[in-house]
Amino acid sequence: MSDPVHAVLLGGSSVVLAGLASAANAADTLSRPEQIAVLVIAALVLTGIYLLACTVWPYANCPRCEGSGKSRSPGGKKFRNCPRCEGTGRRERLGRRLLRKGDR
Ligand SMILES: [Zn+2]
Repeated sequence: MSDPVHAVLLGGSSVVLAGLASAANAADTLSRPEQIAVLVIAALVLTGIYLLACTVWPYANCPRCEGSGKSRSPGGKKFRNCPRCEGTGRRERLGRRLLRKGDR
């Protein structure tokens, strides 16, 4: 886990989970619709953080070639463009694709 975005997301979600846990302690005072609202708001906040991260860091390494953009021969000396990413070595993240669709 060297990806700083995922580290931030994991850190953020654990903070939210801790908040949810303390909210759960107070859940006796919350009515059922209010509990659902808390969950929905937490999900929206996490989604917002993820989409923001996807605009700042829109790409991840291609899973097939791990970012090299090359598909190597068995000997490892010859290569062609990776068919998955067409030689770019990068993969567009899901959030980025969703945002582009939203622009249209
Ligand atoms: Zn690739």
